[in-house]
Amino acid sequence: TERRPAYQRILLKLSGEALAGDADMGIDPRVLNRMALEVGQLVGIGVQIGIVLGGGNIFRGAELQANGLDRVAGDHMGMLATVMNGLALRDAMERNNIRTRILSAIPMSGIVDHYDRRAAIRALQSGDVCIFVGGTGNPFFTTDTAATLRGIEIQADVVLKATKVDGVYDSDPFKNPEAVKYDYLTFDEALEKKLGVMDLTAICLCRDQKMPLRVFNMNKPGALLSLLMGDAEGTLLGN
Ligand code: UDP
Repeated sequence: TERRPAYQRILLKLSGEALAGDADMGIDPRVLNRMALEVGQLVGIGVQIGIVLGGGNIFRGAELQANGLDRVAGDHMGMLATVMNGLALRDAMERNNIRTRILSAIPMSGIVDHYDRRAAIRALQSGDVCIFVGGTGNPFFTTDTAATLRGIEIQADVVLKATKVDGVYDSDPFKNPEAVKYDYLTFDEALEKKLGVMDLTAICLCRDQKMPLRVFNMNKPGALLSLLMGDAEGTLLGN
């Protein structure tokens, strides 16, 4: 029998860091192209995809503040960085013939459309990939929180957080070779153990709205498709 996707509508969170590839900053066009192709495979099997992009490869408000900049100005710069990432990702998607819409929390007429929940759901239903940029539109939040928020709003089946590691570990696997990976965790366990999966606002929002979250390694080619086909990639968090 033919296998069907485990999820019909997903919200994928890609950090700015993920777009930078091996570099610490900027955007690696090869990485963008690979991501576009992996997302395209999902579109091909009928999955509806919303993407929330980070901006940490360009600016982070908290880091700018450490250098003396006003925090709110820095956060505005960080949110604008996500718009630039969105333009670059859409370009890569469209070069691969994947229909894509960018919806921004911050209105920017002539460059991207302003976010509208109903327009987003209609676009998803018609097979367009939606890239949500501009974070939540407010300072002092993160794009992880934006991902959770948009995931809940569009009624995604799951929020998928792409990271550089295979899932959530009890300690940093880059520093501790004995680190143990969790296959499943409740949101309360993640909070209690201070595992730093996402910021507290994002975790609490997921918990309160019962939105499942899966953390997986997007650097592993094919991982996204494999988890969509029901394989136990990474770590699942739930209530
Ligand atoms: N940001 C914000 N409000 C939001 C989302 C993001 O002010 O709702 C700013 C914040 O300064 C953040 C930056 O945008 O540091 C980039 O987002 P984030 O750090 O979440 O990106 P990532 O780490 O995922 O690349």
